[in-house]
Amino acid sequence: MKKILTAILGTVLAAGQLATSVCAAPQESQPFQDKALEMLKTTVAIRSVEGSGLVKDVAEYVAGEFRKAGFPEQDIHLLPIGDTVALVVRLRGDGRLGKKPILLSAHMDVVDALPEDWERDPFTLIEENGYYFGRGSSDNKFGLSVLSATLMRLRAEGYVPGRDLVLALSGDEESLMATTRALATTYRNLIDAEFALVADGGGGQLNEDGVAVSYTVDSAEKTYATFEMKATNPGGHSSLPRRDNAIKDLSDALNRIFAFEFPVMSSELTRAYFSRTAPLVGGEVGDAMERFAENPDDGEAVALLRSRPEYVGSTGTTCVPTMLRGGHAENALPQSAVATINCRIFPGVGVQKTLEALKQVVGNDALEWTVLDEPLESDASPIRDDVFTAITNGVHASYPGLPIIPHMASGASDALHFRAVGIPSYTFSGIFMKSSDEYAHGLNERVPVATLPVAMKMWHSILTELTQ
Ligand SMILES: [Zn+2]
Repeated sequence: MKKILTAILGTVLAAGQLATSVCAAPQESQPFQDKALEMLKTTVAIRSVEGSGLVKDVAEYVAGEFRKAGFPEQDIHLLPIGDTVALVVRLRGDGRLGKKPILLSAHMDVVDALPEDWERDPFTLIEENGYYFGRGSSDNKFGLSVLSATLMRLRAEGYVPGRDLVLALSGDEESLMATTRALATTYRNLIDAEFALVADGGGGQLNEDGVAVSYTVDSAEKTYATFEMKATNPGGHSSLPRRDNAIKDLSDALNRIFAFEFPVMSSELTRAYFSRTAPLVGGEVGDAMERFAENPDDGEAVALLRSRPEYVGSTGTTCVPTMLRGGHAENALPQSAVATINCRIFPGVGVQKTLEALKQVVGNDALEWTVLDEPLESDASPIRDDVFTAITNGVHASYPGLPIIPHMASGASDALHFRAVGIPSYTFSGIFMKSSDEYAHGLNERVPVATLPVAMKMWHSILTELTQ
C-alpha cells in the first residue's frame, strides 16, 4: 500500500515539472474556444429533457458541426434508441501505438428546468458576473462542447493520433441510461476502447477565495441498490389490538438496521483518496484519514470518519431507510407496512450479499424483501499510471502542483456501464469551481467563464499525451 501511495505522489511531482512542455500556444486555441462556447450556447437552447424527443436535435446539431469540421460521414453515427439518441464520432489515428482507442464521453440530455422558477431563462446561455448561466451549462453540455471542440481542434491542427479517439455522447444519462447501456453492449464495436474518459463529474475544486485546492478523478463508483422490506399482518379493528402488528414488526427491523454498521472496507483507491485528502483537510479528521490510509483497522480513525456524512461512504457499504408507508385507515390495524432502504454498496461486495446481510441483521424471516430496479455492479478501475500522469500534466499546465485525488463516486453514472463491460473508466471535467457554485440539476445552474480556456487547454494536453 505504501508503495502505491508513494508511486502516485511520485507521478504527481514528476508530472508537475513537465507540465509546461505539453500546453499549446493560446492563440491557436482561440477559434476552438469560441467554437466550444458557440456549441454550449446552441445546445443549452435545446430543452433536451427526458421524454421531449429533443436530444435528437442536440445530436443532429453536434453531428453537423463535426461534418463542417471535415469529419467523414462514416465516422459519425447517430444511433436512435426509443425517443432519444446516442452519437458516436471517431477521430481516426494511424495506429502507430498499436493500442485500442480511447473512449471520450459526455451526455446530451439535461434535468428539466422550469423558466418560472429561474431568475434568468434556463434555456438561454447568459453571461453575467463571470458565469455562464443556463440548464446544462455545467451538467453536461459544457463537457459535450469542450470534448467536441477539442477533437475538431486536433483535426484542424493536422494532428494524427497514434490510436483512435472515440467520442460517445449518451442521450438519457439523467434518467434511464438506455443509450449508455446500448453503447456499451449493442454498439460495443463502435465504442470499444482500452479505457474511457468521462467528462461528467470530478474536476477542480476552488475554495471561497477562488484558489484551486484539489482536483478529483472518479475511478470507481459504489453500486446503487434499493430494497423494499415489507411486514404483513391479518389486521383487524383498532379497538381490538393484537400483540403482533405490521408497523411494530417493521419498526423493530428498522431499529436493527439503524444500529448496524457494515464492515470496514478499503481499496487501493480509497486509501489513496484518504491519504491525499488528509493534508488538505487537516485537523483531527485529516489525522484520521492518514491513519486510516495506513491502517484501515484503526478503530478510532474509522469511528471519526464514519461520523462524517461526506466520508462514511468511503469506508464501506452504507444502507439507510429512506421511505415509509403502512396501514390503510386510522381505525384499522395495519395489514402491511413497507420501508424503502437505499444502499451504496462497496465495489466487490455485491447486491445479493448486501441483501443477505440486511436479512440477518433484521432476524425476522416473516418479512418480505424486494430488490427494486436492476442494480448494476461494477469493479473499481485501476489507478492507471498513463491516465493519471496525463491528467496531472493537463491540470498542472494551468494549476501547477495541484493535488490530484482519485475518488470513489457514490451514485450511478455513464461510467458505470462502461466499467460493467470491462472498460476502465475515469470521470473528470475541465470545470474548476467553488462548491458554493455547484447548481447542477438545481436552479440557476452556472459555470465560471474563466474555466472554459482552462478546460480546452487541459483536454488538448491530455488527449495529445495519451495518443503520441
Ligand atoms: Zn451529468
